[in-house]
Amino acid sequence: GQHKAAQPEGPQKVPGVARIIAVASGKGGVGKSTVSANLACALAAEGKRVGLLDADVYGPSQPRMLGVSGRPASPDGKTILPMRNHGVTMMSIGLMTNEDQAVVWRGPMLMGALQQMLMQVQWGALDVLIVDLPPGTGDVQLTLSQKFALDGALVVSTPQDVALLDARKGIDMFRQLNIPIIGMIENMSTHICSSCGHEEHVFGHGGVAAEAAKLDVPLLAEIPLHLDIRLASDGGAPIVTSKPDSAQAQSFRNVAKTL
Ligand code: ADP
Repeated sequence: GQHKAAQPEGPQKVPGVARIIAVASGKGGVGKSTVSANLACALAAEGKRVGLLDADVYGPSQPRMLGVSGRPASPDGKTILPMRNHGVTMMSIGLMTNEDQAVVWRGPMLMGALQQMLMQVQWGALDVLIVDLPPGTGDVQLTLSQKFALDGALVVSTPQDVALLDARKGIDMFRQLNIPIIGMIENMSTHICSSCGHEEHVFGHGGVAAEAAKLDVPLLAEIPLHLDIRLASDGGAPIVTSKPDSAQAQSFRNVAKTL
């Protein structure tokens, strides 16, 4: 007779987590982590139970952006207690390594770390878990899409051609893996001077809107390059939390409402 396969069928569910949404980008430095942190805080402010997993193995920035430090506790030696700030339950690969320690990992180690951060962290009951991915189309993206029940992906890009080219590759990858693309977000869309309010299109303008139309995915927001956004993130309280009444905070909240 035939033996039943020991492996579970289909992608794994993270216990207690209703939806997993990934935030992706083709290139680094386009604001993927900034978007992840602000969306998580905006969802928390809406009263949602929200988690943020910083899976950006090459440049984990969520501990700084969410103002969290120290090593997560593991009272039973098996599971890990997540951290919590601004109403967001969070875990970062950056809390498991030294901040100035370069992460040189091979594929299987990356997959092990991702598995551990999803399945061994006591996330508790969450309406949504946001995953801040590393840039590009590598092992972390593949594992998350194929081994876990990923509900959708947001793709962040600047309007520059080079960033857009890589964003397109990311969208193509998610499509091949049958992961729904929730939409694109244009970041650093325009620069707004914090002293005079003058607006300048540093990286060009409308590039992501045109690309989103071409790829037939929604454009969810055009977020300006604004000093306050950077200062808030560096200070450990994303702009949605530290300056909730600003226009910049409002643009992140509008995206959160569509999730
Ligand atoms: P990524 O996660 O794509 O590597 P980050 O979110 O870490 O990018 O952003 C890179 C840097 O740019 C950070 O210092 C961040 O504070 C800053 N930044 C991102 N988006 C904006 C913005 N809209 N306005 C001002 N600074 C921004």
